[in-house]
Amino acid sequence: MSQDYIVAKFGGTSVADYDAMLNCFNIINANPQVKVVILSASAGVTNLLVELAAGCDKNKRKELLEKIRLIQFNIINRLQFPEEIANKIESCLRHITSLSEAASLATNEALAAAIVAHGELMSTMIFTHLCKEQGCKVEYLDAREVIYTTGNFSEATVDLDATLANAHKVTSLIADGTTKVITQGFISSQLDEGKTAVLGRGGSDYSAALFAEIINAKECHIWTDVAGIYTTDPRIVANAQRIEHISFKEAAEMAIFGAKVLHPATILPAVRSNIPVFIGNSKNPDLGGTWVTQSVDNPPLFRGIACKRNQSLLTISSLKMLGTSGFLSKVFNIFTKYNVVVDCVTTSEVAIAITLDHKQNKGQALLENPALITELEELGKVKIEHDYSLIALIGNNLTATKGVASALETLDSYPIRMICQGASDHNICVLVKADQADNTIKSLHAALFEK
Ligand code: ASP
Ligand code: MG
Repeated sequence: MSQDYIVAKFGGTSVADYDAMLNCFNIINANPQVKVVILSASAGVTNLLVELAAGCDKNKRKELLEKIRLIQFNIINRLQFPEEIANKIESCLRHITSLSEAASLATNEALAAAIVAHGELMSTMIFTHLCKEQGCKVEYLDAREVIYTTGNFSEATVDLDATLANAHKVTSLIADGTTKVITQGFISSQLDEGKTAVLGRGGSDYSAALFAEIINAKECHIWTDVAGIYTTDPRIVANAQRIEHISFKEAAEMAIFGAKVLHPATILPAVRSNIPVFIGNSKNPDLGGTWVTQSVDNPPLFRGIACKRNQSLLTISSLKMLGTSGFLSKVFNIFTKYNVVVDCVTTSEVAIAITLDHKQNKGQALLENPALITELEELGKVKIEHDYSLIALIGNNLTATKGVASALETLDSYPIRMICQGASDHNICVLVKADQADNTIKSLHAALFEK
């Protein structure tokens, strides 16, 4: 197997319309090493299919199908020779129609997966046609012939051995040295009976990394609508800088703390097989992008700033805590009982403060559950405050490097409710009032990244 293959994946917005698809074509056509191309469904299509799969009445079905048809035919109508592909897509739409009729009678996961998979099937059929029209040698491959899974139909588990054994189905198609394979992200077939399954929402990144792994690719390129990973959200800080090269670990840290960046868990096969991942903007490939790899040379002390919104702060104070043991365990046992997920924790002799993320805790209501509060009140005085944001300063070697504290000097003019440092080498967190979050990020960014 060649070490020179590249797998390129294009997300939903990259294949949303004809012009977007043409950009994708130009990217793959310009790089002879790109051998396998993975696509998401055109933007919006998966959501519409998910609605159909949930079962709905006749009028609603008609409305949803028309929306899907419109998205796909807006692309097809711009092709030079739309007829053949128009027929294929009509046949997909008929298939979706009868499957969603069935779903309106009774839903089940296998049926839902069969419906939802059509988004990727249609986008890849259309794109294959477009590439051929543009004179590029491509082969359409049904990903279900390669990606074998087990378990849940809506979030299937890849059977790696069975999938690896299918590598030849890909490599035989590209063996001539000029052909590129076009295939679907997100979809698979179940090992036992070959029924269609999907890998969970957003699963095409995983598919791309998996294809890269099984053909032993040298790189995996993820094309999306942002040109890589930034020092912080560019919508908050216009001066945010693109990070040229970041490690999987740092990227994971950014993602955990709320940055809208690809979480390495979503590209696990690339991480475990040490395949460098490039993230770029398909609408503007000349902007460059970010490389994510196992390790980077000389990682900087500060890498970026991420932010988790909708945080609550729970404090319990009790003199009973002074000098006794087992107080914290009582607190955490109660959290376990009520399935409360805890984030940052600080303690003093007589108090404990804990940040709680609304998203992880099914919203504010769970945290204000009277039964939970009553049990906590048996331990001490309970206070719960909302409207906080947790700002995470992501970096490297933060527990062993001098000067880390001076980074926070810039926050002199902001009231900081809580600081967490010391547990992780890779982050320092500060909790601020939600309405102060953006300004705090701006100040920190200016001090640390705009010098
Ligand atoms: N089309 C699927 C989704 O929207 C998979 C993906 O785009 O990654 O979830
Ligand atoms: Mg996606």
